[in-house]
Amino acid sequence: MAGPAVPIPENGQVRDHRIEEPFGQLLDVARDLASRAYAPYSHYPVGAAALVDDGRIVSGCNVENAGYGVTLCAECGLISELIAGGGGKLTAFACVNGHGEAIMPCGRCRQLLSEHAAPGLQILTPLGVQGMDTVLPQAFGPNDIEEKRRHD
Ligand SMILES: [Zn+2]
Repeated sequence: MAGPAVPIPENGQVRDHRIEEPFGQLLDVARDLASRAYAPYSHYPVGAAALVDDGRIVSGCNVENAGYGVTLCAECGLISELIAGGGGKLTAFACVNGHGEAIMPCGRCRQLLSEHAAPGLQILTPLGVQGMDTVLPQAFGPNDIEEKRRHD
């Protein structure tokens, strides 16, 4: 996480001019998911929610484990729900901490999101809404593997 988090009012009404729909709804869902997180070790609950290009909303919360390295970020559950629900591409994404403040996805999860991002995916960050290319520049993706195959 970098930079200050954007405080989100408890009543769910988003007043920050940098935050626009559909993020109000995504923040409501993400905050609900953060309240369900299993984070007995870090005490850092995270909830994530995203809008899919077919109109669905998918979500997840972090799930820690006594084997710390086995811990699942909130985005893991979100992507699993995306695929289990029929796939699709993400058009908007937000994740929050236990105070309901927007936070950055970790580096690994930026890679997860990138694989399933619609062109122009918008990500709510502590600095406002940013594109996938900004939060994960020069991302490695399916095209890189395809390119490698063509040259083999
Ligand atoms: Zn993560």
